[in-house]
Order: sequence, then C-alpha cells, then structure tokens
Amino acid sequence: MATAERDLARGAAGIAVENPATGGVIAAVTATSPQEVGALAARARAAQPAWAALGFDGRAQVLRRAQKWVTDHADRIVATIVSETGKTHDDAVISEIPYTASALGFWARQAPHYLADEKVRSSSPFLAGRKLVVRYEALGLVGVIGPWNYPLVNSFGDCIPALAAGNAVILKPSEVTPLTSLLMAAAMRECGLPEDVLIVAAGDGATGAAVIDAVDMVMFTGSTETGKKVMARAAETLTPVSLELGGKDPMIVLADADVERAAGAAAYYSMQNGGQTCVSVERVYVEAPVYDEFVDKLSRKVAALRQGASSGPGTVDVGAVTSPPQLDVVERHVEEARRAGARVLTGGAARDGDGRFYAPTVLVDVDHSMACMREETFGPTVPVMAVRDADEAVRLANDSPYGLSASVWTREAARGEALARRIECGVVCVNDAQLNYLALELPMGGWKASGLGSRHGAAGIRKYCRQQSLLVTRFAPPVDLQFYPFRARTTKLFGRAVRLLYGRGKRA
Ligand code: NDP
Repeated sequence: MATAERDLARGAAGIAVENPATGGVIAAVTATSPQEVGALAARARAAQPAWAALGFDGRAQVLRRAQKWVTDHADRIVATIVSETGKTHDDAVISEIPYTASALGFWARQAPHYLADEKVRSSSPFLAGRKLVVRYEALGLVGVIGPWNYPLVNSFGDCIPALAAGNAVILKPSEVTPLTSLLMAAAMRECGLPEDVLIVAAGDGATGAAVIDAVDMVMFTGSTETGKKVMARAAETLTPVSLELGGKDPMIVLADADVERAAGAAAYYSMQNGGQTCVSVERVYVEAPVYDEFVDKLSRKVAALRQGASSGPGTVDVGAVTSPPQLDVVERHVEEARRAGARVLTGGAARDGDGRFYAPTVLVDVDHSMACMREETFGPTVPVMAVRDADEAVRLANDSPYGLSASVWTREAARGEALARRIECGVVCVNDAQLNYLALELPMGGWKASGLGSRHGAAGIRKYCRQQSLLVTRFAPPVDLQFYPFRARTTKLFGRAVRLLYGRGKRA
C-alpha cells in the first residue's frame, strides 16, 4: 500500500476501497454524508471569490505547477489508479496521465481566450451606434460527479476547466475509486490552490444527490440511467447540468479498409481499459467481402491478449472489471447472446481465482435482437456482424438509443467522411477511434441517450460560466422615437421601415 493510501486507511471508517485485480481491501476512506455536503459547499463558496480574483494569470500559474506535479509524480498517480481500478499499468500511463498533463496546460492557456469579452455587431439598424458585448463570469460553485472507469480523466479532468474559469469545485468521485481524486486534491494544494477551492466529497449516490442541491452547475459523467436521475434532481433547483453518459459505439469496416489495421484497432479499442471506456468499440459491422478475414485476424489478436493483475509496464494487456455489478452485465450479455445463437470465438467466461476478470471475448453470429448489440456492455467483449453494404452498416449503427461516438474504416478517406456525416453520434473518427479525446480543441459530447452538452473546446469551459450580454449606448438623443407618448405618425413610420428593411423578398 502506498503512503497516501495508508494515510487514508488510518481514517478507518467509511468506504473500503478494493483492488479489483486482487480482491484485497487497500484503503478505507472517510465518507462524506449527504448531510455534510452543505457545510462543504459553504466553505467552497467562501473560498471562491479570492480564487476568481487571482485572474487568468494567477490561476494559470497554479494549473501549470500542477501540470509539472502530474509529470513528476506520474508513477505515484499511476500506482493509485491501478490499485483502485485494477486496470493495467499501461492503460493508466497511456490514457490517464497524458490527458491530464495536457489538459492542465491547455486550460491554463486557453481559458483567457475562450472566456474573453466578445464584441458583437448587430445587423439591426435600430441598434446603430450601440456597443454589444458578450462576457463570461464564473458560476461560483461547480459540482463534478465522476464514474469509476477513469478516476483521473473523468473526475479530476473535468475540474480543470471549471477551476480555470474561476470556480470552486466539489468533486464527488465514484465510491469505488475515491483515492485518485483525494490524491489530486492534495496535489493541487501543494501546487498553490487555495484551501477549499477544490473539495473532494467521497461518498455514494446519496452524497452525489446532495452535491446537486448545493452547487450552481453539475458536470456529470456516468451511466445514462443515473444521468436521468441527476437531471431530474437538478430540475428541482433549476441547476444547469452537463451530462456525459453511456455509449454503444459502432465501428464500421468497409471492404476497402486496411483490414490488418482495422482488426488491430478493433482489438485495442474494444479491450483497452478492459472495455470500460465510454467510447470503447462496443459493436462492429463489417462489409461481407472482408468479414472472414477481419474476424480471423481479430479473434487471433484477442485470443493472444494476456490478462491479470498488472505488476508494471508490459506485464499484461487487459486488466480487471473494476465495479462488481459490471461483471454481471458482461456475463448476461454474453450468455443471452450465446443462448440466442451467437458463437463465442474466444473468451466467454469470467476467470476463477483472485480478482474480478472476464476473459477478452469475440462474439459472432449476433444480431440486433441481442442485448450485446443494443445495451452498453462496458466490458472486454466485441460482437461482430457482417453487413451487405455501407448503407446497411449506417442503418444498424443508427439503430441505437445511444449516440456517443463511432468510427469508419476505409482506404478512401473522403468516402469515410461522407459516411461519418450520416452517423448519429457526437463524434465520428475515420480510420481511428478515441483519439479525438486528445484534441482538447474539439468538442466531445453525446447525442441521443449519450448526453447533453459537451466537454472540450469553447463550450467545455463556457458551460462553467454565466453568460452576460451588455448593450452600451454612449451617444443618444434625449428622446428616442419609440418613447411615450405613442404617436400614430411615428408608429406608421416604424411599420414602413420594417417593410422596407425586411419585406422586399418574394414569397415563392
Ligand atoms: P454511474 O452512473 O453508476 O455513477 C456515476 C457517478 O454518479 C458515481 O460517482 C456515482 O456514485 C454517482 N451517483 C450514483 N447515483 C447518483 C445520484 N442519484 N445522484 C448523483 N450521483 C449519483 O456510472 P459508473 O460509475 O458505473 O460509470 C460507468 C458509466 O459512465 C458508463 O455508462 C460509461 O459509459 C459512462 N461514462 C461516460 C463517459 C463520457 O464521457 N460520456 C466517460 C466515462 C464513463 P457511486 O459510484 O458512489 O454510486
């Protein structure tokens, strides 16, 4: 057990944190009860004005120091993440650290640009001479509620733009994985973040609900089911929400694709992080001419994956199932598919012994009546289906309540892009998957049941702000035409002006 975890364990009462790869309890974290959240919010609100008053430069200094801290202490962060998620060392190094290090610098640099006053010119002649400005101001207190699959990226990561905008934040990590958030809160203090500007409320769903009641905006990442509850709760106080929810990401492989690359990508992007990534490849549609070749390559690659508790870089490829109920979902999807006629080419069972593991699994002979093609599995499985042509692939890809992200694989990039535009998802990659997540300039948000709002890009920080519009009149006569008393002549003049300005077009 690392020192940080041992310190936490000394607190004893509260949440017992388990290492899913070994089954052992590694720490005990004091839980924040729902009743305690109000007092935490009051502390955070008291600290926020001074943080906002530091300005973009002052806040950027802290974020840049944190960026250095993350790279200097990458080993410690990785060890913490691996211990509470059971993911591989490599998954944590490849996905969690680079994102967070780059995000700290990105928001430090971009916040002043995205949140700068915007001068607007109006096309209305009635406003001639008026100065129009859109400005952004920190909301005050933001609640970030995060899932267990990426304790750094999807919990602390969403705090970064909120802090850069000048907010205080209460972070409610999943009770399954609170250690990384606690570590990062301590790190931020070390880097000069004033006390109480970032408070971690470790607790369960009830604590999360209490956070919603206490904040000015909720940034939620998690399942669609819980997202609906979050939105309903926030509606009671008209608190704005941004929801990053589940997905069932389709991968479309066209007959002219580089099959070797597509099969390698299918193996990686379905199994990476044990398949527990919101933007995992969750279902694959392959054009008939290359179906057999693709399935052969994919199943060989998946069968060769090494699974187990990670003891360092390169020791295993696929880690544990982090959350206990998730294993039941994965087992149900595979069993139901098998009973309905699907074939398991490799894997297909949970592993006996210590830790919680499900063998990397390839399913074929699947169809859209099966849960494995319709519901989010969120585990190390990849169902593959042959399709007649690209049109059928697009139709099936869109036959889903989800719309998070998708990928299209073809040697003809322009055709891939044209197809991408027909897919009902917030993000579509051509000949790649997931990499858009590293483009912090590119908004990322789900359509349909996959979410509301987005992270990254200008919208990814403006959502943490109040928008204010200013209209400033510097030079004006003592009386405007529309002022009282109304006069028939003036009103008719307005009518004529409107017809002249807007009524000259044709109706057909
Ligand atoms: P959950 O929805 O179960 O939980 C998410 C967070 O909400 C946890 O902190 C949880 O606490 C908390 N919570 C539970 N009930 C409530 C409530 N009533 N009010 C407020 N908060 C509550 O998601 P998982 O943790 O299981 O994460 C996996 C899901 O997250 C998948 O569906 C995945 O697709 C999605 N996800 C989406 C991403 C995206 O960007 N679109 C990125 C990453 C994951 P506790 O855990 O303590 O119960």
